[in-house]
Amino acid sequence: MTKEGSSKPTSARPQVGPKTGVQRREVRQAAARLQALGKISLALPSQDERLQERLQSLRTEDTYEASGACPDCAALQAQSRDATTLCERHLRQALGF
Ligand SMILES: [Zn+2]
Repeated sequence: MTKEGSSKPTSARPQVGPKTGVQRREVRQAAARLQALGKISLALPSQDERLQERLQSLRTEDTYEASGACPDCAALQAQSRDATTLCERHLRQALGF
């Protein structure tokens, strides 16, 4: 009934071809579920990422507070006319180095 005579599947490769309509539909549903899960985990930042963001923003707040009293930062800010400019020390601090 089958025409597998000349091209047999190799033993290394597991048989994955669903043959009945029901199996095929189940596979498709599972794939859609996995895809949906992937989208959700992509859309929502993980708790770890959120924690990192919070830490980063705290660090930035701290740094800008400290840079307000830093003559190096003030000089660079005056020079560049950019109130967000930081001296190297505070830039490193803001970046978490
Ligand atoms: Zn500074």
